[in-house]
Amino acid sequence: MLSKNILNDFPVLSRTIKGNRIVYLDSAASTLKPKPVIDKLSKFYLENYANVHRAVHTLASESTQMLEFSRKNYANFLNASEHEIIFTSGTTMSINLIVESLVRSKILNKDDIVLTTLVEHHANFVPWVRLSKLHGFRVEFVEPSLRFGTLAIEDFLKKDINPKVVAITGHSNVTGQLIDIEKIRNIFPNSILIVDGAQLIPHQRIDVKSLDIDFLCFSVHKMLGPSGIGVLYGKSQYLETLEPFLYGGEMIDKVGVEDVTFNVLPYKFEAGTPNIGGIVGANYALEYLKNIGFDEAKKHILDLTKYAIEKFRNIENVEVYGPLDESHCGILSFNIDGIHPHDVAHLLDEKFGVAVRSGHHCAQPLMNVLKSQSRLSQFPNSTCRASFYIYNSYEDIDILIEGIKKIKEWFDV
Ligand code: PMP
Repeated sequence: MLSKNILNDFPVLSRTIKGNRIVYLDSAASTLKPKPVIDKLSKFYLENYANVHRAVHTLASESTQMLEFSRKNYANFLNASEHEIIFTSGTTMSINLIVESLVRSKILNKDDIVLTTLVEHHANFVPWVRLSKLHGFRVEFVEPSLRFGTLAIEDFLKKDINPKVVAITGHSNVTGQLIDIEKIRNIFPNSILIVDGAQLIPHQRIDVKSLDIDFLCFSVHKMLGPSGIGVLYGKSQYLETLEPFLYGGEMIDKVGVEDVTFNVLPYKFEAGTPNIGGIVGANYALEYLKNIGFDEAKKHILDLTKYAIEKFRNIENVEVYGPLDESHCGILSFNIDGIHPHDVAHLLDEKFGVAVRSGHHCAQPLMNVLKSQSRLSQFPNSTCRASFYIYNSYEDIDILIEGIKKIKEWFDV
């Protein structure tokens, strides 16, 4: 277990709601923010903030240095080069940027195949489906054949196609399954590999070079940092040739009435004033996580997951989704037979102080898969989702389990 001192950095966890201590099990939606990150960011806003890149005055140069330092740290973290790190507003924005730029650059053309899966978050699903309608490329879907929404490597091997693009999550936000990116890359050595790292990066160091990832997207609000800021890694070979997604200030070199030329990387993809505080705060969040240690954080989260899986095994009439093996990390989705997940989530909050998420988790295609595999009397097209992070403990899981048992009693399930 990680040191209990971590809890001091999250004062909100000592709040009580309706008489109960808060048990925050909704980190897959967004993590809490540690006080040291908030303090440093507040100091930046109070003492250094100005717009970046454009001016020669001291504050502008301090802000610019701090912003570029964040880029450098994220580049090191991913084993990438600084010019391959683009700051966006989040994973959703990053994936939209890639799809649109691939189309505009005529890298992705009519009749080309894009391979994705039925377990994706809508952020890595809707852009492909919609833009395939407009531009005529084809989207193929890998269907999870294993336990409740779990993908098998064989599901990919079955696809006898040569996709131009493979776009896949590294970690499902519903089933908690970690996907073996290395194996996927080996199956599709010539495809453009895009990894949705929104759930993966918060607890795992990824080396984009050794995994030969072409694009990696993630959101800083899921790794202790501010919201509205995301990191997009792109292999420079693609970024150099891709048409930008957003046009405007900062991304240009020469502008004339006939045409324009673009700035160098990464600025070519960063039109307009960036989210300066977000980028600086992203660096503080990364430093905080590095201090804890990514391996330690992951071990802690895996320990909690294993513990929760064992506890859930002994509860009747509760269906738990995902692999329930060593590839299962940090996220447990479940349903109690006959009780709607919104009711379960509401009661957990109201009576036990437990914050979990309920709904389709922006993964409607996966809800359809779960529905087809479910043994519940009626699958509600949604689930309850408990997710764990560095500030959670075994005790938090005990409180969740106690809550579920009580709710079952009240509903006589
Ligand atoms: N992909 C996955 C797997 C996610 O969990 C999320 C966030 N729920 C996203 C993409 C989208 O992230 P954001 O809303 O920060 O753009």
